[in-house]
Amino acid sequence: MKKSISIVGGGPSALMTAAFLDSSKFDVTLYEKNKSVGRKFLVAGDGGFNITHSESIEEMIERFTPIEFLKEALTEFSNEDLRTWLEELGIPTFEGSSHRVYPEEGIKPIEVLNAILKKLDANGTKIKTEHTWTGWNKDALVFNDSTNVKSDYTIFALGGGSWKVTGSDGSWSNLFEEKNIEMLPFTPANCAYKVDWTKGFLGRNAGKPLKNISMSCFGNEQKGEAVITEFGLEGNAIYALSPQIQELLEKKGEATVLIDLKPTLTMEVLLEKMYKARVPKTTDILRKYVKLGPSKLDLLKLNTTREEFMDINSVAKKVKALPVTLTAAASLDEAISTTGGIVLTELNENYELSKLPNNFCIGEMSDWNAPTGGYLLQACFSMGSKIGHHLNSK
Ligand SMILES: Cc1cc2nc3c(=O)[nH]c(=O)nc-3n(C[C@H](O)[C@H](O)[C@H](O)COP(=O)(O)OP(=O)(O)OC[C@H]3O[C@@H](n4cnc5c(N)ncnc54)[C@H](O)[C@@H]3O)c2cc1C
Repeated sequence: MKKSISIVGGGPSALMTAAFLDSSKFDVTLYEKNKSVGRKFLVAGDGGFNITHSESIEEMIERFTPIEFLKEALTEFSNEDLRTWLEELGIPTFEGSSHRVYPEEGIKPIEVLNAILKKLDANGTKIKTEHTWTGWNKDALVFNDSTNVKSDYTIFALGGGSWKVTGSDGSWSNLFEEKNIEMLPFTPANCAYKVDWTKGFLGRNAGKPLKNISMSCFGNEQKGEAVITEFGLEGNAIYALSPQIQELLEKKGEATVLIDLKPTLTMEVLLEKMYKARVPKTTDILRKYVKLGPSKLDLLKLNTTREEFMDINSVAKKVKALPVTLTAAASLDEAISTTGGIVLTELNENYELSKLPNNFCIGEMSDWNAPTGGYLLQACFSMGSKIGHHLNSK
C-alpha cells in the first residue's frame, strides 16, 4: 500500500518536494492556506525573476549562512540541475550580465509556476487550497475546516515572516513552540536600511541608483548597486551585508558601511588620474577624470568635510571608502527574506525534526540566510529536491 505524505504550504520548496516524490510509492496532498499556491514566488517574479545564480556550486555554497546547513542539498541539486530541470519543463533560462539566472525573456512568472504545477499534476499530487493548518490533534494535522489528517510523513514548508500579504506570516511559530521546538523571532534579512539623508540630498537623488559600487561592513565586501530612497539605501550591494549590518545595529544602534565609489580603480590609479588632471576644481576632476556621476559626487560631498574635499589624498581615500551610517533596518514585512524561525539544531541532516520524527521543515521557515541573487529560490528548490529523494529512498 502507498504511504501518505502531507505537504503544508504551497511555496517553491513545497512544490519542488511534490515534484520529486515518487508517485508509485506515495499519495501526496499539498495544503495551502491561500486560494492559490506560489504567491510569494510570483511576487519574486515581479521585480526580475532571479531564479538562481550561475557561479560554480562551490562558490554558491559559500554564500549561505551557515554553510554546512545547505551544502549537501545544493550539491545534490545544484544551480545547473535546476536550470536543466526547468528546461525539461519547457522553461529555458539565461545568464544575465551579473551572472544571475532568469527565465528566458518573455516567459512570465505565472508560466514558470504553471509549468511546475503541470509537473505536479502529472505526478498525481492533490492540491487543497484554502486549507490553513492550525495545529495538531495527537499526531493528526488539523486544518481550519476542522478536518484531521493523519499521514505517514509531513513536510512543512510554511515560509518566512515577510510580505504577509502572500500568506507567509510566520503565525505558525507558536504551534512548534508548543511542541518544545526552539524558535527564533523573525528578523528582516535582505532589506533596505535607513539613512538620515538631508532634505536637499534627497530632493536631488531619491530614486537614483549608485551603480558599480562595492560596499563593505566588518571586512565583508559586496559589489553591486544600491538605490537611494526616501528611507535610505536598498539594493543587492547592501542586502548581502545584512548579517553584519544587523549585528552592528543590534549592538550599537547604528552601523557604518564603507562605499567604494570606484571599485575598478586601485588607489594608485585613482591618485594618478587625479594628480594628472588639468582642471583646478576637485568637482571637475572627479567628474571628468574619475568619471563619478552626479549622485556619487553628491554622496561624496555629503560625507566629506570641505577641507577633505579640497585635498586630493583625503578625497581619494573617501572615494575608495566612503562611510555611510545606517540607523535602522526596514520593517519585517518589507524584507525580501527573513532569518529566524525554526532553530537549525532542531533539524537533522534531512531537515527532519528530531523531536517529531517523520515531520520535516524546509524552505525559508528555518534560520538560514543567503543574499539576493537567486540564492533564496535555489535553496528552496534544493531542499525540496533533497527531501523528495530522501523519502523516495525509504
Ligand atoms: C519582493 C520579493 C522578491 C524576491 N525576489 C527573489 C528573487 O528574485 N530570487 C530569489 O531567489 N528569491 C526571491 N525572493 C525570496 C523567495 O521568494 C522566497 O525565499 C521563497 O518564496 C521562499 O519559499 P518557501 O517555499 O520557503 O516559502 P513561501 O514561498 O513563503 O511559501 C510558504 C507558503 O506557505 C503558506 N502557509 C503559511 N502558513 C500556512 C498555514 N498555516 N497553513 C497552510 N499554508 C500556510 C503560505 O501561504 C505560502 O504560500 C523574493 C521575495 C520577495 C518578498
